[in-house]
Amino acid sequence: MKPAKKSTMDEYLKKHPFLKETAGLHLGLEKILSQLVKPVSFPEKADLIAYTKEGLPLLQQAGLQKRMAEAAAAGLGSMLAGLYDLMAPAMMKAAIEKWQEWAVQAEPETIQHFFGFLMRQEDGEIHELAETNQLNETMIRFLGWALIDALVPARVKDSSFWEHEAKWKRNYCPVCGRQAALAQLRKEQQGRARYLSCDGCHTVWPHKRIGCVYCQNIDLKKMHILEPEGEPEMRLDVCDECHTYLKTYNEEGAEDVYLRDWATIHLDLLGEEQGLRKKGSVLLASE
Ligand SMILES: [Zn+2]
Ligand SMILES: [Zn+2]
Repeated sequence: MKPAKKSTMDEYLKKHPFLKETAGLHLGLEKILSQLVKPVSFPEKADLIAYTKEGLPLLQQAGLQKRMAEAAAAGLGSMLAGLYDLMAPAMMKAAIEKWQEWAVQAEPETIQHFFGFLMRQEDGEIHELAETNQLNETMIRFLGWALIDALVPARVKDSSFWEHEAKWKRNYCPVCGRQAALAQLRKEQQGRARYLSCDGCHTVWPHKRIGCVYCQNIDLKKMHILEPEGEPEMRLDVCDECHTYLKTYNEEGAEDVYLRDWATIHLDLLGEEQGLRKKGSVLLASE
């Protein structure tokens, strides 16, 4: 994701001082990764269109997945070393050190396998690897996906490519295959159009405006909206069929703030209070 315009994010953080530490961690990580990591070279547009025609996301294609796993495994050591100066809680620092010890000793193939598990969302394998090596599962998911994200070229994450050229409208990410974590409603000539955003690789793509993006329920009597107090820019679209919610950005212009899951993490409380499930976050198992 390209860095937020400083003013927009600064203003937002002034209004949400409780996010300061979280912001320091996430923005710091993005900055470090953008300096350390060079994106993997992806196929040209015509090939991207052909590859995804039948609905198979790019990183689920054997060749690209392998290249991505190799690049991520090769970059893991320098990412972890680069995190030395990251403003992070002591517990996280300790977990990073532990992962660094593992990365130094592990065979390159073992590290590649880990990134394969992440990209294929093989939760059982990720859990087992974490448990066997006493690694913090949430942390390796979070940082693992941050590295994958940094390795995906920006041009592939652009919603206009998926909308106008590849014509991808499915309910999962065309690049990595994850379910959406956030949505945005944009004004069109007639009414509004919905775009979904991936928490793994931060690609944005169009999807039909009506209904639940997770279970495809289109019965509007089984959907409702929660409007958080004091945050008119955001709402939660709730599905009464599968009991999930989707945080949705209602406006345009501050995507770099509102299409980041961590920046609206306090709104998840509203969903949790109602016993609703969150989906799409890289921190969570895909179930
Ligand atoms: Zn993705
Ligand atoms: Zn649903």
